[in-house]
Amino acid sequence: MHLQDSLTAACDGLAVAYDPQKGKHIVAQRTFEPGEVLFTERAWVQIPLSVPSANDMRAGKICHDCAMPAPKLDCRHRISRPNQHVPCRLRYCSDQCRMSSESLGGLCMRNEAYTDLFEACLTKRYFVALAVLRMWLIRARAQDGKRQEQLAFASTSALAIDERIRMGRRRHASGLPLLEQMHELVLQLMPTHKSRHTFDEFCEDIGRFQINGTHDGALFMLHSIINHACDANVDIRPLDCPSRIKVVASRRIDAGEEVNDLYVRGDDRLYKRRAALKDQWAFDCTCRKCSRELQTSQRRFILGALLAILFALYGLRR
Ligand SMILES: [Zn+2]
Ligand SMILES: [Zn+2]
Ligand SMILES: [Zn+2]
Repeated sequence: MHLQDSLTAACDGLAVAYDPQKGKHIVAQRTFEPGEVLFTERAWVQIPLSVPSANDMRAGKICHDCAMPAPKLDCRHRISRPNQHVPCRLRYCSDQCRMSSESLGGLCMRNEAYTDLFEACLTKRYFVALAVLRMWLIRARAQDGKRQEQLAFASTSALAIDERIRMGRRRHASGLPLLEQMHELVLQLMPTHKSRHTFDEFCEDIGRFQINGTHDGALFMLHSIINHACDANVDIRPLDCPSRIKVVASRRIDAGEEVNDLYVRGDDRLYKRRAALKDQWAFDCTCRKCSRELQTSQRRFILGALLAILFALYGLRR
């Protein structure tokens, strides 16, 4: 589905806009009152990002597709291995989740390659490789016409993503063998077009996931195009599980205003906020709050420097 169509289906009164600096973003077309729900959304990809939650997923305590607790449906696949009789313990919370997982070519414990990848992620703590695998399988499944929009998140904050990948490579230079191993494991699960899924693309998608994913391991198509501003006008709240969210107006939003959420704590001091944004999302914030506070701090700096010079001159004359 076209990104604007998805947005229109989710809410009347919001539009997708594009700007070379910001990338894709969302603009209000009408007024939203404080507390009003702009839209709700289900994750496009959801993976566990910690060992305990990955173990819960493996043991069937959380849904294998959406991470919802207490799933009710068993996986329909049977495991047949020469020396082992292990039941597939993966479970799903709904038919929708089971179908979504099955449509990715049987990503479950009856698939030895998938089990290997899952085990490797658990021991090496490289869960984001699972996310990239799901992203690639969804892309492979999507028709070409839809491919661009399926990858909507990929074009957001392109500059930040490039920077993030560069930083990641520098920081994880010693981790390259691990990344290469994860890439190999992911390729074993890709049905066709292996040549298209290069190591560089793998690294880029890891960067994209880390930029646009939530800390719960979910990637949302619409949420991922909402930009940050330190004076944000929406809150992102989980619904019943990490893979379902609602976007709520935290103050009045006027028609024509960009919809922004907070990536860091808005009440942190200017330089702490900006350092966190630079470190984790690789961009310099240009929001109204930052511009205002930067101006004030520059004025203070100039005033301080002038006073220091005056005192120094006064000291010299004495
Ligand atoms: Zn589910
Ligand atoms: Zn299974
Ligand atoms: Zn800012």
